[in-house]
Amino acid sequence: MIVSVASGKGGTGKTLVATSLALSLKDRERVQLLDCDVEEPDVHIFLRPVITRSEAVCIQVPEVDEKKCTYCGKCAEVCAYHAIAVSPQHVLVFPQLCHGCGACSYLCPEEAIYEEGRQIGTVESGYSDSIAFVHGKLTVGEAMPTPVVRKVKEQVNHDGVVIIDVSPGTSCPVVESIKGSDFCLLVTEPTPFGLNDLILAVELVKELKIPCGVVINRAGVGDRKVEEYCLKESIPVLLTIPLDIGIARIYSRGITLVEGMTQWKESFLELFDRIQEIAHERSRSLKR
Ligand code: SF4
Ligand code: SF4
Repeated sequence: MIVSVASGKGGTGKTLVATSLALSLKDRERVQLLDCDVEEPDVHIFLRPVITRSEAVCIQVPEVDEKKCTYCGKCAEVCAYHAIAVSPQHVLVFPQLCHGCGACSYLCPEEAIYEEGRQIGTVESGYSDSIAFVHGKLTVGEAMPTPVVRKVKEQVNHDGVVIIDVSPGTSCPVVESIKGSDFCLLVTEPTPFGLNDLILAVELVKELKIPCGVVINRAGVGDRKVEEYCLKESIPVLLTIPLDIGIARIYSRGITLVEGMTQWKESFLELFDRIQEIAHERSRSLKR
């Protein structure tokens, strides 16, 4: 069972939901929590895991042997990312723009291009109590989070419940994080910005054919338009967390909701039961 926790917009409380769901479930299920928000991972602040393994994430970037190069320009022509430029006497590679697709070395008629690994991030794994923890960290200044997300997801352990904290938005790293999930929980807030970005996130999960449900965080801050939208689109609102200064206080001290206010544990267990029901119903209907 893979549950991704996403949001169209940053700052809605995605990590609050992902960590509380993992902590509530850990006595009932084998739980793995992956932090795929590799540009700004923060789950470790709340779970304080013991890291036992660290692995570099590299992409293959081209190096040109100018002794063999005839400056024909084919490599620059084929590069969709403008990561390679050819002048009459030089070939310039811009490693930070390179996506490591390998097209230039494959198409070079002189076999003048070889590839070298370049580190763009790190994946660390370990444990927080009984929760298996993995997170990715994109190196500061690097522009490609998706290969780091992919590396984090290679560690998915299908023997239990996997919770994925996804980066905000609807771009490539979000698609990479969510795909393959059995369910996507969309965390939003009842404001016009929250609604706008929720609509984009819903379109994305529909495109990926993943069932979804909504958690409304900071309920009371805005209006009822998010609920009205969910009703119209038949998207279940699975949990509502009120705007509460007490929650903000414990969270700002790095304490998760279910640790700081233990009465929430039951609500998160019920949330997971509903997710399971919906995901199972969906897989049954696909088999029919
Ligand atoms: S395709 Fe090969 S030979 Fe042509 S410019 Fe690029 S590196 Fe040089
Ligand atoms: S590997 Fe792909 S992205 Fe990188 S320079 Fe070559 S063609 Fe461009």
